[in-house]
Amino acid sequence: MTLNKEQEIYGIPVLDDNIIWIWSKGGKATVIDPAISEPVIKFLRDKNLILDTIFQTHHHNDHIGGTTKLMVQWPQVKVIASIKEKKRIPFQNTSVTDGQKITVLNTTFKVIELIGHTISHIAFYSDEFENPVLFVGDTLFSAGCGRIFEGTHAEMFASLQKISSLPQNTKIYCAHEYTKNNLLWALNLHPNDNLLKEKLNEVNKKIAKNKLTIPTTLEEEKKINLFLRAKNVDEFSYLRANKDIWV
Ligand code: ZN
Ligand code: FE
Repeated sequence: MTLNKEQEIYGIPVLDDNIIWIWSKGGKATVIDPAISEPVIKFLRDKNLILDTIFQTHHHNDHIGGTTKLMVQWPQVKVIASIKEKKRIPFQNTSVTDGQKITVLNTTFKVIELIGHTISHIAFYSDEFENPVLFVGDTLFSAGCGRIFEGTHAEMFASLQKISSLPQNTKIYCAHEYTKNNLLWALNLHPNDNLLKEKLNEVNKKIAKNKLTIPTTLEEEKKINLFLRAKNVDEFSYLRANKDIWV
């Protein structure tokens, strides 16, 4: 057996519907948005991985809640977050800006600022995987998008356009498992949409097997995500407002 371990991306479901993504490579790991620390510590110990880096997409507690405890276990860890969030993510030790390239575990990522859910939300994109990879936080969900807490509808629409312009085969790692709920909402608006119906079937099968429905791909989302299908800000705003009041 060679010691040259292949890389892998694992999803750990935590809390009600958060997913903590862990990318392992060569005995080291990068964790994306650790909502809590315990399951991450257990996972890394079980797999004998050293925590190298934490990516923070934004300041919400269900994304940063576990970080300081992980920093105690792995004091060398790089915590990468937006330079605009030095107050709300005070423990960051590597601050980044929109468009900046960073190298993590010998892999280059580009920081993409996606304003809307918060005023400084960022995503991490790399085309140095088999398929390009996007850790998108709470900006895009499968069949949905993040709530607009701090930005404007126009900013969120522009952020979704940025995502749309990435390669079609980009794998999108969202921070929440909301897919089924989002599809039920979309089907409520478009009851005869066959793409949505097929997707719901697929998602129900995965859920029955206790599997995550994410990652998704950009190609897939362009078919089934009403927010990505929206042609302009007005259409997007109508959808977002409609979803905001849908249970
Ligand atoms: Zn959030
Ligand atoms: Fe969240």
